[in-house]
Parts: sequence; structure tokens; C-alpha cells
Amino acid sequence: MISVTLVPVLEDNYSYILTADNGQCAVIDPGDGEELVRVLKQKSLIADYIFNTHHHSDHVAGNHAVKSYCKCKLIGPESEMKRIASIDIPVNAQSALTFGGEDVQVIETPGHTSGHICFYFPDSKILLSGDTLFAMGCGRLFEGSAEDMYTSLQKLKFLPGDTRVYCGHEYTLANAQFCHHAAPDNQDITNRLKEIKKIRDNGAPTIPSTIEEETKTNVFLMAKSAEEFASLRTQKDNF
Ligand code: ZN
Ligand code: FE
Repeated sequence: MISVTLVPVLEDNYSYILTADNGQCAVIDPGDGEELVRVLKQKSLIADYIFNTHHHSDHVAGNHAVKSYCKCKLIGPESEMKRIASIDIPVNAQSALTFGGEDVQVIETPGHTSGHICFYFPDSKILLSGDTLFAMGCGRLFEGSAEDMYTSLQKLKFLPGDTRVYCGHEYTLANAQFCHHAAPDNQDITNRLKEIKKIRDNGAPTIPSTIEEETKTNVFLMAKSAEEFASLRTQKDNF
């Protein structure tokens, strides 16, 4: 099995440290190299890999620092190789990737960036969703169309319900407020908004959620068509 440690970095980003039973270790989206190296040292861990979901600097700026400290291999989206320095293992949906003795599926999820990928660990039921799927939200469309993002989210929606979702940012409260605004009569959303307010009042992370929770309370995942999704995304951009 693989364990996940949350590492809050920058303003509202989450990096993650994965440790597997076989001793392997990976750092996910190190937006702040100094902080990741500090936490690795504190836990006496040396990463074997870095995983990047997409090229934005709040996810990759610490690659160099972590790589220098750990002498590890960088895994990232093949189609963003020109925009992420020194990827050692470029991957796409066809890649046969393993970590900690488990299969890792690369899911191509264009929309936020054109080459964004998510990493899915079916055995440990973990999804690293980067800036594609947030708790009760989804990433902004910087490089893709609403159609692209809708299709990407549909791929994640049908993962097993008990898959834990680890995303790239703590945006959950603002996302929950928007979901409540968009679907005021949805009791699941109202209840989750209340819970999230409590969690954030205590300064705790709202991550991970599960695919099941998201399919019930994330209006972007609940959208029935690309058109409905596009309209929600536009409303959220102006919310
Ligand atoms: Zn991003
Ligand atoms: Fe980001």
C-alpha cells in the first residue's frame, strides 16, 4: 500500500509525499523545493521520483531542488516536455508506469493545460488530480476548451467511488460556496458546505475527498453535457 503525506506549500497549493511499503518514495508537484526538502529531511526520506501533473510553476518550481537533494527521476507529461525542464521519464496514457510495486495509470486530462495528466493508483485507490479535479471544483481553462475539460472530468468521474482524490490546491470552501449557489436545493451540497466551513475554521485541510463525494456534490462533475459544463465554468469565473 501507498501512504500519502500532504505538504501545504505557497499560498494554497498542496504537494504530496508518497511512501510505499517497498520503501519507494515520490514527491508530487513540488511547488516549493525548499519546503519539500525540509519535510523529506525531517522524515529521513529520499525520493526516488518526482511526479508532475502539468507545467505551471506552482507545481514544478521545486523540481530542481528536490532532484538535486534526492538524485531522483522526474516523471511528467510527454506533451509538456518542452515546458518542464529535465523530465527523465515522459509519460502518456499508454505508459506502463509502476511505483511502490503497484501499477500507476496515467490519465490524460487536457483543459487546464493542454498536456495535463492525472496519476491513478488502482491498488491503493489514490488519484492525484493536479489542477483538473478539485474538491467541489475544477481547474480554470487556460489552454483547453470547455469540451476538453468536460471530457477529461468524465474520465475521472467513473473511477471507483472510494478512490481518494488528492488535488493541487485548497480551494474547497470557495468551490463549495459556488456549488451551493449553482444548486441551492441540493442537500448533499448544503451539508458538505457546512462540513467544509467547520474544517476550514479549524485550519485543517479538506483533502482528500473521494470520487463518490465528488460525483454527489461537485457541480462540474455532475454536468450532463459539455454545454452545461461550459456555462458553469463561466459562472464560476465570474463568481
Ligand atoms: Zn495549474
Ligand atoms: Fe496550480
